[in-house]
Amino acid sequence: MLGFKIRNNSQNFIKNFFSKQIHNWIRKDPDYHRAFMLLFDCLPTQIQDELARKKDLIFIKMDGQFASTIEADKKKSIILIYEDLLKLFKGPRFPQGVAVLAHELGHILRNHAKRHISILDSQFEADQFAIEVGFEEELIDFLSDNIDKGDCKIRLENILVNK
Ligand SMILES: [Zn+2]
Repeated sequence: MLGFKIRNNSQNFIKNFFSKQIHNWIRKDPDYHRAFMLLFDCLPTQIQDELARKKDLIFIKMDGQFASTIEADKKKSIILIYEDLLKLFKGPRFPQGVAVLAHELGHILRNHAKRHISILDSQFEADQFAIEVGFEEELIDFLSDNIDKGDCKIRLENILVNK
């Protein structure tokens, strides 16, 4: 697995992210904190800069299944984190949970709220983003474990076909 050390050039983005009061629930839980640190640590500097510059990125905890992304307006991107995803962070499937977070970031960074592409294509692109930042194996594991849920089966097939 990858290390958790913060690169110098990304300290501002990460510091700013965790200093938001709305992210107290992440900062105060060691498992959630570790998940987000791992995710950010995997993002290239260029992507961290993009997130820091253009987006007010907010993660909110909710009841429901895994996670979803909302673009509230041009500047605010909200990712809803549901109970099922939080459970992954508390057990051996922790890396799968981080892959799901990476997928959600993919929706934001690929501007899916503003582009007219199908839901399925946006799912494929978000998966591609997660793969690009290093979570291919973890994403495949996640989709395999949830093969009977939603669009997981077709997403898994898409990844395996393009491998
Ligand atoms: Zn998605």
